[in-house]
Amino acid sequence: MAERLTKRALLVQRLGIAVVAGLLVVTLAAGTLWMAGAGEKALAVFSVGVAVCTALSVWAGRLSADEQRSLEERLAARDARYRQTLELLPEGVVILKGGWKIEWVNTTASHHFGLTMEDEGSDFLDHIESADFREWMRQRNYERHFNLISPDDSLILDVAVVAPDDRHMIIVTHDVTERRRLEDMRRDFVANVSHELRTPLTVIGGFLELSTPEMPEDVRAYHLKLMREQTQRMRRLTDDLLMLSHLENKDEHAAADPELIAVPRLIDDVVREGRALSGGQHRITSSCEDVSLVGFPDEIRSAVMNLVSNAVRYTPAGGDIRVVWRREGTGAVLTVTDTGIGIAPEHIPRITERFYRVDKGRSRDTGGTGLGLAIVKHVLRRNGGELRIRSAPGKGSEFSFRFPEERIFVPQSI
Ligand code: ADP
Repeated sequence: MAERLTKRALLVQRLGIAVVAGLLVVTLAAGTLWMAGAGEKALAVFSVGVAVCTALSVWAGRLSADEQRSLEERLAARDARYRQTLELLPEGVVILKGGWKIEWVNTTASHHFGLTMEDEGSDFLDHIESADFREWMRQRNYERHFNLISPDDSLILDVAVVAPDDRHMIIVTHDVTERRRLEDMRRDFVANVSHELRTPLTVIGGFLELSTPEMPEDVRAYHLKLMREQTQRMRRLTDDLLMLSHLENKDEHAAADPELIAVPRLIDDVVREGRALSGGQHRITSSCEDVSLVGFPDEIRSAVMNLVSNAVRYTPAGGDIRVVWRREGTGAVLTVTDTGIGIAPEHIPRITERFYRVDKGRSRDTGGTGLGLAIVKHVLRRNGGELRIRSAPGKGSEFSFRFPEERIFVPQSI
């Protein structure tokens, strides 16, 4: 960008013109006097004139040196300001000069490319492991961006290059890891839901095609029973999906105020429902301390019911299921323990993911949607609780909700 002339630069310019013009005038005057025969006068005029012009030149020279210094200082300050700004950007920035030589790199880009300060001045491409990325850089077709995995494999980077000319280049990197993860999750989710719906729809469609007026009554009744089961399965799935979507919407929008929940009464209801679900095949007991919880009652109820229903579904007939609500430390904990099939340690960190099941067949056969624990996790997040799972294959499982002091209310304490 062109620098505007400062007052000092203007003065230097004018002094230069004055010196040239002065020398011209002095030479002309001295020449005229010399021709007129006034040799001594001509010499005097010439000497004085040259002396004055020399003095002016020296002055102009000094001013010009000062101006040069101050210009360099201003440029250095501006450069520092630009770098400070680039340092603050959330994007990584690498400036290359003279081919691939690293001129400057901000902290984010150092992290993205695994560069250090000492790498400034070295060839950028020497630091790049990915042959595809080096090739893309060399081809100089920078209209499309490049997706690069960071050297430590932890980040997905969107890389753009701006090349104003052949010798200069700015590389801008943008961390898109989180965006990609969300996109993948969304894609998996849609694929999972479609897959879950396809099976019952295929079964129902098949029966409808087979159905003819001549079909024996008992076969028709059997088909209708199976179709009803598949319809219920789809209903459970859509109910759970709606529940998850409501919870997510409430996360984003301010929810209603939490209420005081009488947990012992809530557990009584859930245990009664659990017994109905078990059909007398399990011993289901409970024990509660008189502690209330501050939260959203419908959500807590649905989360506890999910645990009890899982305990029933994953515990063979004759097993025990126990629900306990008690104070622990300054908070309180709700535990559902069963003597069921248990879960191998490698599955435990993943079972709260949507549609993650240890045994798909068993989950489906017992009416599972694969969304129960995802709902539980969401509910706890919204109600200030924490989920802990302890389980061992063949020995049973223990699922606990832990609530901190600020979430509980003990009636005796007033
Ligand atoms: P599902 O509808 O499949 O039960 P959940 O999200 O409720 O879905 O549970 C996820 C998976 O966790 C289940 O498929 C099952 O493999 C395992 N699981 C959950 N609760 C228990 C339990 N009490 N005992 C053994 N396995 C369990």
